[in-house]
Amino acid sequence: MLGRSHILINLSVAALMKLPPIPTFALLVGATFPDRFEYWLSLEHRKFGHWWPLYAISLLVSMAAYNHSNSYPYYWMALFCLGCLLHILADFLTPAGIPTLSLSHRHAIAIFKTGSPLECVVTGITFATALYLNGAQWLEVLFP
Ligand SMILES: [Zn+2]
Repeated sequence: MLGRSHILINLSVAALMKLPPIPTFALLVGATFPDRFEYWLSLEHRKFGHWWPLYAISLLVSMAAYNHSNSYPYYWMALFCLGCLLHILADFLTPAGIPTLSLSHRHAIAIFKTGSPLECVVTGITFATALYLNGAQWLEVLFP
């Protein structure tokens, strides 16, 4: 899936959650992090950086730390991890897939190819629906 599609999907979730600016930013950083992480470390694409347990465990640890301390950085970290999980879920919809239980085997639902017109339609409809449902309220949260 293209970077702009990941960003639109995560923006859709931010709108649905009516997130304020900093949590929205944390979710957006996670939107492209798995790809950037593999690129920065010269790792094979859609391997370790796209392994969902890494982010799921980090999300749970961040949520537990936030519940324990009420410290905002843990809340932002949890949203960053959620953004990464949304990225991986979106990549799961493409034929290249993601590693599921082990890093050596990838699985996919394969609804559309990366960069295909259908990807643009699906992400566009997702974003438009999120804005239709919560756009006005989200803008009030973003720009009080
Ligand atoms: Zn990816």
